[in-house]
Amino acid sequence: MSLRFSLTGLSIESDQEKKEYDIIIVGGGPAGLTAALYSARYSMEAIVITELIGGYMSEAPLVDDYPGLPEIPGNELVKKFVNHVKKYGVPIIVDKVTDIISKNKKWIVKTLTGKEYIGKAVIIAIGSKKRKLGVPGEDRLIGKGVSYCTTCDGPLFKDKVVAVIGGGNSAVTGALYLAEIASKVYLIHRREEFRAFKVYVDKAEKHPKITILRNYIVTEILGKEKVEGIKIRNTKTGEEKILDVDGVFIEIGLVPPTDFFRKIGVEIDEKGYAKTKPDQSTNLPGIYVAGDAAGGPCKYRFEQIITAAAEGAKAADAAFKYIVSSFSTED
Ligand code: NAP
Repeated sequence: MSLRFSLTGLSIESDQEKKEYDIIIVGGGPAGLTAALYSARYSMEAIVITELIGGYMSEAPLVDDYPGLPEIPGNELVKKFVNHVKKYGVPIIVDKVTDIISKNKKWIVKTLTGKEYIGKAVIIAIGSKKRKLGVPGEDRLIGKGVSYCTTCDGPLFKDKVVAVIGGGNSAVTGALYLAEIASKVYLIHRREEFRAFKVYVDKAEKHPKITILRNYIVTEILGKEKVEGIKIRNTKTGEEKILDVDGVFIEIGLVPPTDFFRKIGVEIDEKGYAKTKPDQSTNLPGIYVAGDAAGGPCKYRFEQIITAAAEGAKAADAAFKYIVSSFSTED
């Protein structure tokens, strides 16, 4: 029996020692780590398997909307989440889940490193992937000036000129972060109105190092060995120009992991997110999806750390109830 109802006895087990769990959590962002915390507090044996501990929360330059923790860097908030999960002894394994298949009412979770874990329930909290611009030069110059993460690569551009593409919270907070490092930041958005919170846009507009270019799209990223410039076009006038920049930060939103859901048989909505019910359950018994990758008609789309965490908590509660009602203590 692996289902235990006391908080004692939970220990940190390495993945080599144990392969069978009550709840396997795929993804270690705010949704996944919260699901781990709640699962452990229900005395479920849980494990987190994640490619990136903290998910995109770890890349946020500054988080100022998580209640009780004002103005905290994303990586600091990740540490707090992880320490809280570790307090309950839940192992966090860095690996990529490649498949999830059913066997005798349970789920086998397969990873890129060839490991297999068995769980009674699986909570998928893998978020979304960064969207690409799809312009010439982008793929060729990734890592040579083209980046999708301001906090990871920003420090490489001290006193250099950079461009940030996008009009959402990631682009505007990214531009504000880069303005503290670079000598000049172009913030290039394809429309007049920003999608980002007004509080961030107001700050960017006032920042002496940030130049906002509205109604411009990037048509090409230029450079031989590294980024040397970008070609942009005004969407209203058609005017084209080249900006000399050393770095391009692409922050144009996220795309859901639709192919993965298709592969494992989770029903998706019209936008490619997993169709989830209010308790984060899916069409597959014992499979839950929480956070940015969850969708469906019940979903109120508002991608925040707090909303992802809330869905992780709901998924763990629902998975716990599912296990109690579907498995005997001998299973
Ligand atoms: P987002 O909110 O979806 O914004 C993406 C932006 O990129 C939009 O302004 C969009 O333009 C633009 N865009 C999309 N495709 C483009 C293309 N091909 N070429 C040029 N521009 C393109 O994405 P995000 O900023 O990455 O944020 C993702 C989620 O995380 C959002 O829900 C966001 O609120 C949340 N987030 C929150 C915080 C926070 O501080 N609370 C920080 C970061 C992220 P249009 O506006 O014209 O569509």
